[in-house]
Amino acid sequence: MAFESARGRTVRPLARSLRRNPEDVAANSNARAPLAKLTLPGPKVELRFPVGSDSRAFYRRFYPGTNVAEWNDWRWQMRTRIRSLEELGRIFRLSEDEYAAVARHKGSLPVGITPYYASLMGLTDASEPLRRTHITTGGEYVRAPGEDDDPLSEDHDTVVPGLVHRYPDRVLFLVTGTCSTYCRYCTRSRLVGNPGGEYQFSRGQWEQALAYLESHAEVRDVLLSGGDPLTLSDDKLDWLLGRLRAIRHIEFLRIGTKMPVVTPQRVTRGLVRVLKKHHPLWMSLHFTHPKELTREVSEATARLADAGIPLGSQTVLLKDINDTPATMTQLMHGLLKNRVKPYYLYQADPISGSAHFRTGVDKGLEIVRALRGHTTGYATPIYVVDAPGGGGKIQLAPDPVAGREGDDLLLKNFEGKIFRYPDPNGALGR
Ligand code: SF4
Repeated sequence: MAFESARGRTVRPLARSLRRNPEDVAANSNARAPLAKLTLPGPKVELRFPVGSDSRAFYRRFYPGTNVAEWNDWRWQMRTRIRSLEELGRIFRLSEDEYAAVARHKGSLPVGITPYYASLMGLTDASEPLRRTHITTGGEYVRAPGEDDDPLSEDHDTVVPGLVHRYPDRVLFLVTGTCSTYCRYCTRSRLVGNPGGEYQFSRGQWEQALAYLESHAEVRDVLLSGGDPLTLSDDKLDWLLGRLRAIRHIEFLRIGTKMPVVTPQRVTRGLVRVLKKHHPLWMSLHFTHPKELTREVSEATARLADAGIPLGSQTVLLKDINDTPATMTQLMHGLLKNRVKPYYLYQADPISGSAHFRTGVDKGLEIVRALRGHTTGYATPIYVVDAPGGGGKIQLAPDPVAGREGDDLLLKNFEGKIFRYPDPNGALGR
């Protein structure tokens, strides 16, 4: 089958046997990925996905000969991920700390960056925010007090492999250990990106989880996560969502994903057709910084929103990355413009080697205080600490109660001014 490329040429896809499945690549994470090779895209590439000027300049410089259709093929993005010291060094001017830390790394949470996401990063400045979130530094090898490989005790609440049942009516279903990029502060750093390691994800394991869900009528809400569920092929995702929707007591499904942010090309028309079949389906998109709000991401979120999928965001508060009111306000406003409701702002979890990413909790409250009342309520996420030890999410907000005078409750508004609310017989504020 021939098709027309974005440049108007007619090209032919490679024979099936010559194409590589990104999951095969992911399953071999310890293998050094080859430097970008010029392969012709498969037949399902998106020909009308926008490409920002920075990304275009980037791929012309670092992937010469790559055409728009290849760049816009999420499978090309997956198999061309930057995964080795050699590739990092080809693109970034690495600091000594980064070089040593990447060289030392073993096991889960390898370095993995799609070329698209790399195109948004600082190439020479090791302190650039997005780069800090994805290139290993020496801080990861320093274990601070209170840190743990599994700080939320998910393993303790795992009822069958991959299924975490902590809250009464909902479950967390870890469907894969693969992500398109690996965040250095990942709560599941112990299990992602490590095929052959302790945590395995397979169809047989899914069946065990499905059997558990079929026999637990109290579960009405399933959150698919991982890893990133959108790294699965459309067919696998369709199968899994279909099986879940067939369980009568499951009322709705959610997908937690970072792919529309770091590999927006994944949001193909075909994927959207699959997702639309399984409503009610909600999505939580993992955003970190306003730099991520590109034309490509706008296209991805528009496609998902047009498919009737309610979009919420989740953002981890990260030291010297997004921990100022100005940065966070810009991100939240940008999300609304992209039809994503800012949902959760997370205090960073105390995973092992995360101290260099974590702020004080007062910083989160300062940011919420700067947002609340100063901008639309839709732009204000819920700020939570996920309690270590498996206590679940605990919401934190500035306390507006200033006291009481007789029957009047004294409340502080967003400007710090005190107002009275008639509250006879009330106890609050005493
Ligand atoms: S995309 Fe999510 S699961 Fe994957 S590394 Fe980042 S935070 Fe972890």
